Amino acid sequence: MTMPPPPPLRLHLDPDELAHNWRWLQNRNPGAACGAAVKADGYGLGAMEVMRHLRRAGCHDFFVATWAEALALVPYLDGAGLSVLHGVREEDMAVARACPARPVLNSASQIARWRDAGGGPCDIMVDTGMNRLGIRADEIGMANLEGLAIDICMSHLARADEDSEMNARQADAFERVMAMVPARRYSLANSAGVMLGARFAHDLVRPGLALYGGVPRREGEGHIRQVVRPQAQILQRRMVPAGESVGYGATWQAMADTPVAILNIGYADGYFRALGTGGYATTCDGQDCPLVGRVSMDLVAVALPAGGGHKEGDWLALAFDLPAAERTSGLSQYELLTSLGHRFERRWL
Ligand SMILES: *Cc1c(COP(=O)(O)O)cnc(C)c1O
Repeated sequence: MTMPPPPPLRLHLDPDELAHNWRWLQNRNPGAACGAAVKADGYGLGAMEVMRHLRRAGCHDFFVATWAEALALVPYLDGAGLSVLHGVREEDMAVARACPARPVLNSASQIARWRDAGGGPCDIMVDTGMNRLGIRADEIGMANLEGLAIDICMSHLARADEDSEMNARQADAFERVMAMVPARRYSLANSAGVMLGARFAHDLVRPGLALYGGVPRREGEGHIRQVVRPQAQILQRRMVPAGESVGYGATWQAMADTPVAILNIGYADGYFRALGTGGYATTCDGQDCPLVGRVSMDLVAVALPAGGGHKEGDWLALAFDLPAAERTSGLSQYELLTSLGHRFERRWL
């Protein structure tokens, strides 16, 4: 087998900044434990590596969406808890019974399915107003929870990233749920919820986005640090003569003769066209180079500083501050992270 050569694009992933973000979130509510949502392959960073680094920082509770995601992490659990947010379908049962991860039971039929198969440790999701997954709070009283060993009883906030009165309503509803559902631990807050105050913390918080550098509320500004930095190699350096254009649609024209670098990254890598407006890349000697022309599927062009010695094979870092990228692109910080593709070499430094 011939090994492929090293890829011309990579994600620099910083384990210290990841751990810093986890500790900052943990310290918002010292009385509560801080878990980590690592679904969607750790929001695109790589769930296994994220779990390894957060285990070392002191995190004990992890959340994935599906059983396939859980199975991939089981070898690295090392005694940590793992919850499968989407619960158990009939076709999940054989795997779920044999797997150390817990299902998050979301409906009366999932509860019955798990109990009829012998119960065992599980979590439960109660819906307090989002109307996504979870058994309705006003139906939990009728649910038969007997024989279930419930670890985490949780609910999920719909508008924690806003100053909405819905947050207090969900917090009230969750307190009523807590009086009805016997569980070892109670959990309500996602990343934004962590920043809403002690009332939302309970026993365990479940951030995802903010661990990875996303800032869902202004309380996190200046505290949450960037973890993910895309880098791409210069495939070609060219001089674009004054008056000529660059890229599809010829949307950018050189006012003067301009040195341009063609970088190996594009929208197929999750570097979307919408990031082109105001987007820039930074050279290793710290010079910012604006993107010029449209982002292609596999390539972008940047204007190089005149006279710089930047050449084919050099690496440039693409600006990827998540709050800023969200503002310029109109894509959510969640979409920006989870769209980062498979062609990157993911490098934990
Ligand atoms: C994804 C998810 C989280 C984490 O949410 P963030 O907004 O990324 O912090 C927490 N709880 C549940 C149920 C989730 O689905």
